[in-house]
Amino acid sequence: MRILVVEDDINLNRQLAEALKEAGYVVDTAFDGEEGHFLGDTEPYDAIILDIGLPEMDGITVLEKWRGAGRTVPVLILTARDRWSDKVAGIDAGADDYVAKPFHVEEVLARIRALIRRAAGHASSEIVCGPVRLDTKSSKATVDGKPLKLTSHEYRLLAYLMHHKGEVVSRTELVEHMYDQDFDRDSNTIEVFVGRLRKKMGVDLIETVRGLGYRIQAPTNAN
Ligand code: CA
Repeated sequence: MRILVVEDDINLNRQLAEALKEAGYVVDTAFDGEEGHFLGDTEPYDAIILDIGLPEMDGITVLEKWRGAGRTVPVLILTARDRWSDKVAGIDAGADDYVAKPFHVEEVLARIRALIRRAAGHASSEIVCGPVRLDTKSSKATVDGKPLKLTSHEYRLLAYLMHHKGEVVSRTELVEHMYDQDFDRDSNTIEVFVGRLRKKMGVDLIETVRGLGYRIQAPTNAN
């Protein structure tokens, strides 16, 4: 899962990015509205954290532009405390949720988890597929109740497939959601990660759809 943080306060931006990375996300950062708008317009994010008070272009305008261009990515806005009008303007402009400053990073993380889950159609924080359970809260997975020891890349791969279970996900899409913009992306590595993940899981749930990509789904006879 890949997140964009648009926040001009350098320390706050860094704090959010670090916490998100620690929680298993890939993170891109922007420090003004123009850069943020450009990234959100050209890169496929799973969620965006957008400050309202930004240089170059304010957050409301950025959001209106994205929505005007048909971008449906979940957006969490950061508003100044006591500025209720920012919340109203943000929600009217298409924000999915907001957090007022100052905030606890844990609250932002919880709201981001919820936004990503809901965007993928999952109401609960645990996503289940046959014997595999993905706990989006702790960023951990189990097979038949046994914990899976995954590297960050393997976790991201499994998390993306689980959020989109039943759908065919292309290698390009996986690459775009597993690496940040500066990473030297190579879609061949996806195959390697899928192989390792299959081995660690020990169950045959990740299906290769020839020429299209991968799909995770529970066997139809699963109880
Ligand atoms: Ca600001």
